Amino acid sequence: MKYDYLIVGSGLFGATFAYFAKKAGKNSLVIDKRPQLGGNVYCEQIEGINVHKYGAHIFHTNNKEVWDFVNSIVPFNRYTNSPVANYKGTLYNLPFNMNTFYQMWGVTTPAEAQAKIDEQKAFALTCLNGREPANLEEQALCLVGEDIFVKLIKEYTEKQWGRKCSELPAFIIKRLPVRYTYDNNYFNDLYQGIPIGGYNILINRLLEGIDCKTGIDFFDNLKNNWQNIAKKLVYCGPLDEFFQFSLGHLDWRTVTFKTRIEDTPNYQGNAVVNYTSYDKPYTRIIEHKHFEMFGNNIYNCPKTVVSEEYSVEYKYGMEQYYPINDNRNNTIAEQYKILASQQQNVLFGGRLAEYKYYDMAPIIEKVMNLWK
Ligand code: FAD
Ligand code: UDP
Repeated sequence: MKYDYLIVGSGLFGATFAYFAKKAGKNSLVIDKRPQLGGNVYCEQIEGINVHKYGAHIFHTNNKEVWDFVNSIVPFNRYTNSPVANYKGTLYNLPFNMNTFYQMWGVTTPAEAQAKIDEQKAFALTCLNGREPANLEEQALCLVGEDIFVKLIKEYTEKQWGRKCSELPAFIIKRLPVRYTYDNNYFNDLYQGIPIGGYNILINRLLEGIDCKTGIDFFDNLKNNWQNIAKKLVYCGPLDEFFQFSLGHLDWRTVTFKTRIEDTPNYQGNAVVNYTSYDKPYTRIIEHKHFEMFGNNIYNCPKTVVSEEYSVEYKYGMEQYYPINDNRNNTIAEQYKILASQQQNVLFGGRLAEYKYYDMAPIIEKVMNLWK
């Protein structure tokens, strides 16, 4: 039997694509080189807790259609991301809001905070002299000024990306809201949460009734004869690898995790604590149970699982996590995308194949639009 689609990668792109293909009466074979399905949203159960094995994932979107769709697959809980930043032992709320400004400067009203921030960013704005910020450092200094840049952005960002803030694109920092309200919600989106029971339920339901094989690398023996298996290919692996790196290697940032069980029901009181200074080598500590257990339920589970996150430069063979969308890499990626557009019956989709810093919801939105 020949499939309509061979889907390489069982992450959210591949799984959602397979789901809509099935609804449209098409059959697919989904393969993944990892030992399990789900891509980066896969969770491992430890001590009754869903541990986000490939990094903490919080679903958020403004798109009601996407939200209704994922909730039709599995209902989502009310988790609201409100990380805390630890700078040399002092805690600040994130994203940058009235709580942060109070902790930073003792200001208590929006007017006082606004005046303080205007004062803080005046120098940066003068230096720009009307032009747009050219990099992350300039962008951050124009958004929130010197003190917040130094204590909450600079070292965290440099740990995370392994590059100076002045060498990173400005858009990265625009992901973070700046608010003159006492609102610690990390996202501005209308909807957010975690699937009740965990992400594996979402993936398993998307892939229900679809042929899936794990532990299979597309490049081992399928690259040159996939046409014998399927009419079309949906490729969610790394863009450069598909073309044997012929135009050069794309850079990625990867993350390693040190995960341990702590013999306490509540280790840090929050799912996410960012360490924004160099004195800690990790960028953040995730306490996984707080994504799905709230209030006194936290204490019904006697242990907890925490992961320290270390951001490292990608080397061949590691997991590719974040595309590095600087000029050099974007230029190479664009050239690969021209080659990709010339491939017959191949769709390149998702974070790795599009070399794009995608969140989960835009991935689902993209697949939904493909099937409209
Ligand atoms: P992936 O999930 O990476 O899936 C790609 C799959 O392809 C993988 O399973 C891989 O094994 C497989 N594959 C690759 N090459 C081959 C091959 N040669 N043969 C077979 N299989 C192959 N988004 C949010 O909205 N909220 C968050 O809080 C959030 N946190 C994140 C934290 C981290 C650390 C990272 C890295 C990303 C985060 N994201 C978050 C983004 C989110 O992970 C992505 O948007 C989403 O997972 C992308 O889905 P995908 O299917 O494109 O890629
Ligand atoms: N960031 C920061 N301090 C923080 C958290 C984030 O400077 O405490 C910066 C950092 O450069 C990061 C960017 O904001 O890359 C975007 O943060 P976000 O949490 O959206 O990144 P994610 O980990 O979700 O990719």
